Amino acid sequence: MKRTILFVGIGFISLALVSFLPPVNPVPKATLKTLIIDPGHGGFDPGARGTMSTEAAVSLEVATKFGKAVQKEFPDMKIIFTRTTDVMAGNKRTKDEGLHYRANLANESNGELFISIHCNSAGKKAGGWYDNVITGRTPYKKTVGKGKKKKTITAYRNTYGKVWHENIAHGTETYVWAMNKNDAKVNSVNQTEFYGEIDSTVSNLTLPDPSDPAEKARMLIYAQHYFRKSLSLANLIEQEFSSTGRLSRGVKQRNDAGIWVLQATGMPSILVEIGFISNKEEEEYINSEKGQDEIVEDILNAFRVYKQKVDTKQISTAP
Ligand SMILES: [Zn+2]
Repeated sequence: MKRTILFVGIGFISLALVSFLPPVNPVPKATLKTLIIDPGHGGFDPGARGTMSTEAAVSLEVATKFGKAVQKEFPDMKIIFTRTTDVMAGNKRTKDEGLHYRANLANESNGELFISIHCNSAGKKAGGWYDNVITGRTPYKKTVGKGKKKKTITAYRNTYGKVWHENIAHGTETYVWAMNKNDAKVNSVNQTEFYGEIDSTVSNLTLPDPSDPAEKARMLIYAQHYFRKSLSLANLIEQEFSSTGRLSRGVKQRNDAGIWVLQATGMPSILVEIGFISNKEEEEYINSEKGQDEIVEDILNAFRVYKQKVDTKQISTAP
C-alpha cells in the first residue's frame, strides 16, 4: 500500500516536473545542404569596368568571402563555386560556354540553391563623363540679300562647352528569372526531385517529357515552386541591404543573356547586383573591406532566414 502511494507520488512529481520543462523542439533535418556560389564573369570577360576595378574581380572577392562565411556558420553545407580564380568559369573560351558550364555544374552537383554575384553598371562611363552642351550664343556679322537689298545683319551661333556629368546610379538589385521564361526553367527541373516530391509513388524514373501536356504541367508547378523560393530569398536580401542603409532598387526580373543561367539551373536561383561599379563612391564601397563585410553579412543574414524557412518547410514544398 505504502509502496503504491510512493509510486503514484513519484509519478505525480515527474509529471509536474515534465510540465515545467521547456517543450522539446525537434531539430529539423536540414534540407538545404548544397549551395552553388557563382561569381559573375571572369578571365577574358571582366564584366563592367569601374574607374579602378572590374566587376569580375569584385564579384569573385565578395563571393569567396560569402562562401567562407556560410561554411563557418554551416560546416556541413556543401558549397560549390563556379570559379575560384580570375578565369572564365570552367576555363571556357566563350561567355556562352561559361554560362552553360555554370548551369551544368550546378545541376550535376544537385545544387539546391544558386546564388550569382555581380556588380551593376550604368551610364556612358564609370565615374562620370563630359557632355557637350550649348553654353551660350556668339554674335557675328552676316551679309544677306542681293544688289540693293544687300545688308549686313547680326547673327548668332551657338557656343558649346563641356559639362561634367557625374555617374550617380547606385544601389542594389536582386534578380529572379523571369516568369515568361518558365519553359526554359521547366526543362532543367531535376528529374529525381520532380518525381520524388511531386509524386513519390512513381517508381519508373523515365525522363519527364515536356511535350506531354500533363508532364509539362507538373514540371511547370515545380518551376513555380522554385520561383517562390527564389523570390523569397531575393526579398530577404534586398531587405537586408536596406537595413544596412543601402539603396535597395528592389527585386527585379530580367530576360537578357546574362541572366540565362538563372533559367538553366534546376533549383531556386538568384542573381545579386551588389552595387554599381560605375558609381565612384559605390565602387569604393564594394572594393573596401568594410563594404564587402557588410554585403557578405547582409546576404548571409538573408540566407540564414531562407535556410531556416526551407529546412522547416515554411516555404511550402507542395504547390
Ligand atoms: Zn555581370
